[in-house]
Amino acid sequence: MEISPASQNALAFVVAMLLAILVGSLVEYVVHRLMHARIVLGQKHLEHHREGTGQGWWGEFLDYFLPSIPFLWLGFLYSGHAGIGWILGAFIYACIAAYAHQAQHDNPDLVFWLKKPIHHLHHKGKMWHNNFGITFSLWDRIFGTYKDIDWVPEKNRKDYRLAHYLRIRWF
Ligand SMILES: [Zn+2]
Ligand SMILES: [Zn+2]
Repeated sequence: MEISPASQNALAFVVAMLLAILVGSLVEYVVHRLMHARIVLGQKHLEHHREGTGQGWWGEFLDYFLPSIPFLWLGFLYSGHAGIGWILGAFIYACIAAYAHQAQHDNPDLVFWLKKPIHHLHHKGKMWHNNFGITFSLWDRIFGTYKDIDWVPEKNRKDYRLAHYLRIRWF
Protein backbone atom coordinates (compact mmCIF):
# COMPACT_ATOMS: atom_id res chain seq x y z
CA MET A 1 0.00 0.00 0.00
CA GLU A 2 1.30 3.39 -1.04
CA ILE A 3 0.88 6.33 1.30
CA SER A 4 -0.07 9.44 -0.65
CA PRO A 5 2.20 12.49 -0.33
CA ALA A 6 -0.66 14.39 1.31
CA SER A 7 -1.00 11.74 4.04
CA GLN A 8 2.76 11.66 4.51
CA ASN A 9 2.74 15.42 5.05
CA ALA A 10 -0.15 15.21 7.50
CA LEU A 11 1.58 12.40 9.40
CA ALA A 12 4.87 14.33 9.59
CA PHE A 13 2.96 17.36 10.90
CA VAL A 14 1.09 15.41 13.61
CA VAL A 15 4.09 13.32 14.71
CA ALA A 16 6.33 16.40 14.93
CA MET A 17 3.68 18.23 16.96
CA LEU A 18 3.24 15.36 19.44
CA LEU A 19 6.99 14.88 19.64
CA ALA A 20 7.49 18.56 20.53
CA ILE A 21 4.95 18.23 23.37
CA LEU A 22 6.67 15.08 24.63
CA VAL A 23 10.16 16.61 24.40
CA GLY A 24 8.88 19.78 26.09
CA SER A 25 7.63 17.78 29.06
CA LEU A 26 10.93 15.88 29.26
CA VAL A 27 12.90 19.15 29.30
CA GLU A 28 10.54 20.43 32.01
CA TYR A 29 11.29 17.32 34.10
CA VAL A 30 15.07 17.52 33.60
CA VAL A 31 15.34 21.27 34.22
CA HIS A 32 13.20 21.08 37.37
CA ARG A 33 15.37 18.21 38.61
CA LEU A 34 18.52 20.23 37.92
CA MET A 35 17.02 23.15 39.84
CA HIS A 36 16.69 20.91 42.88
CA ALA A 37 20.26 19.71 42.39
CA ARG A 38 21.12 23.47 42.38
CA ILE A 39 22.74 23.16 38.97
CA VAL A 40 20.43 25.68 37.28
CA LEU A 41 18.37 28.48 38.86
CA GLY A 42 18.69 26.88 42.31
CA GLN A 43 18.15 30.12 44.22
CA LYS A 44 15.24 31.28 42.08
CA HIS A 45 13.56 27.93 42.50
CA LEU A 46 14.12 27.94 46.25
CA GLU A 47 12.27 31.25 46.36
CA HIS A 48 9.46 29.73 44.30
CA HIS A 49 9.15 27.00 46.93
CA ARG A 50 9.13 29.59 49.72
CA GLU A 51 6.46 31.70 48.05
CA GLY A 52 4.40 28.79 46.74
CA THR A 53 2.63 30.82 44.05
CA GLY A 54 2.70 30.93 40.26
CA GLN A 55 3.47 34.06 38.25
CA GLY A 56 0.16 34.07 36.40
CA TRP A 57 -0.40 32.14 33.17
CA TRP A 58 1.30 34.71 30.92
CA GLY A 59 4.51 34.86 32.98
CA GLU A 60 4.57 31.08 33.11
CA PHE A 61 4.00 30.84 29.36
CA LEU A 62 7.03 33.05 28.68
CA ASP A 63 9.18 30.87 30.95
CA TYR A 64 8.19 27.75 29.02
CA PHE A 65 8.13 29.19 25.52
CA LEU A 66 11.07 31.64 25.30
CA PRO A 67 13.79 29.02 26.00
CA SER A 68 12.41 26.89 23.14
CA ILE A 69 12.94 29.61 20.51
CA PRO A 70 16.54 28.59 19.61
CA PHE A 71 15.24 25.07 18.86
CA LEU A 72 12.12 25.91 16.87
CA TRP A 73 13.78 25.26 13.49
CA LEU A 74 14.60 21.62 14.24
CA GLY A 75 11.49 20.15 12.55
CA PHE A 76 12.55 21.69 9.23
CA LEU A 77 15.48 19.28 9.17
CA TYR A 78 12.87 16.69 8.26
CA SER A 79 10.34 18.62 6.14
CA GLY A 80 8.32 21.80 5.92
CA HIS A 81 5.24 20.13 7.39
CA ALA A 82 7.25 18.63 10.23
CA GLY A 83 8.75 22.09 10.81
CA ILE A 84 5.35 23.73 11.24
CA GLY A 85 4.09 20.83 13.41
CA TRP A 86 7.14 21.09 15.67
CA ILE A 87 6.69 24.86 16.17
CA LEU A 88 2.97 24.43 16.86
CA GLY A 89 3.74 21.60 19.31
CA ALA A 90 6.23 23.77 21.20
CA PHE A 91 3.62 26.53 21.41
CA ILE A 92 0.84 24.17 22.56
CA TYR A 93 3.19 22.58 25.09
CA ALA A 94 4.04 26.00 26.59
CA CYS A 95 0.31 26.89 26.80
CA ILE A 96 -0.52 23.64 28.62
CA ALA A 97 2.54 23.71 30.89
CA ALA A 98 1.80 27.32 31.90
CA TYR A 99 -1.79 26.33 32.68
CA ALA A 100 -0.67 23.19 34.55
CA HIS A 101 1.75 25.12 36.75
CA GLN A 102 -0.54 28.05 37.48
CA ALA A 103 -3.58 25.84 38.10
CA GLN A 104 -1.70 23.59 40.53
CA HIS A 105 -0.85 26.65 42.59
CA ASP A 106 -4.32 28.22 42.31
CA ASN A 107 -6.63 25.19 42.37
CA PRO A 108 -5.05 21.75 41.82
CA ASP A 109 -8.48 20.22 41.17
CA LEU A 110 -8.35 21.77 37.70
CA VAL A 111 -5.66 19.50 36.21
CA PHE A 112 -8.28 16.96 35.15
CA TRP A 113 -5.83 14.98 32.98
CA LEU A 114 -3.74 13.87 35.99
CA LYS A 115 -4.86 11.32 38.55
CA LYS A 116 -3.25 13.46 41.22
CA PRO A 117 -1.84 16.98 40.71
CA ILE A 118 1.80 15.99 40.74
CA HIS A 119 3.23 19.49 41.10
CA HIS A 120 0.83 20.35 43.89
CA LEU A 121 2.03 17.20 45.71
CA HIS A 122 5.65 18.31 45.06
CA HIS A 123 5.00 21.58 46.94
CA LYS A 124 2.60 20.22 49.54
CA GLY A 125 4.98 17.40 50.50
CA LYS A 126 7.98 19.81 50.43
CA MET A 127 9.60 17.30 48.10
CA TRP A 128 13.19 17.76 47.03
CA HIS A 129 13.76 14.45 45.24
CA ASN A 130 10.35 13.54 43.83
CA ASN A 131 7.61 14.65 41.47
CA PHE A 132 9.57 16.91 39.16
CA GLY A 133 6.92 16.73 36.46
CA ILE A 134 4.41 19.57 36.21
CA THR A 135 2.37 18.92 33.09
CA PHE A 136 2.50 15.10 33.18
CA SER A 137 3.58 12.43 35.65
CA LEU A 138 5.00 10.25 32.84
CA TRP A 139 8.69 11.05 33.33
CA ASP A 140 8.58 10.63 37.12
CA ARG A 141 7.06 7.22 36.56
CA ILE A 142 9.72 6.30 34.00
CA PHE A 143 12.66 7.57 36.09
CA GLY A 144 11.29 6.24 39.39
CA THR A 145 10.82 9.61 41.10
CA TYR A 146 7.03 9.46 41.32
CA LYS A 147 5.76 9.73 44.88
CA ASP A 148 2.13 9.37 45.83
CA ILE A 149 0.88 11.14 48.94
CA ASP A 150 -2.61 11.64 50.31
CA TRP A 151 -4.61 14.17 48.42
CA VAL A 152 -8.33 14.59 47.94
CA PRO A 153 -9.88 17.10 45.59
CA GLU A 154 -11.75 19.96 47.23
CA LYS A 155 -14.77 19.45 45.03
CA ASN A 156 -16.11 16.57 43.01
CA ARG A 157 -14.99 16.72 39.38
CA LYS A 158 -18.54 16.75 38.11
CA ASP A 159 -19.23 19.94 40.04
CA TYR A 160 -16.81 21.76 37.77
CA ARG A 161 -18.13 23.65 34.76
CA LEU A 162 -16.06 24.99 31.90
CA ALA A 163 -16.06 28.45 33.49
CA HIS A 164 -14.33 27.06 36.62
CA TYR A 165 -11.41 25.92 34.50
CA LEU A 166 -10.83 29.53 33.48
CA ARG A 167 -10.53 30.66 37.11
CA ILE A 168 -6.79 30.84 37.40
CA ARG A 169 -4.57 33.91 37.60
CA TRP A 170 -3.89 34.76 33.97
CA PHE A 171 -1.56 37.79 34.33
ZN1 LIG B 1 10.47 22.28 42.78
ZN1 LIG C 1 5.46 25.41 41.49
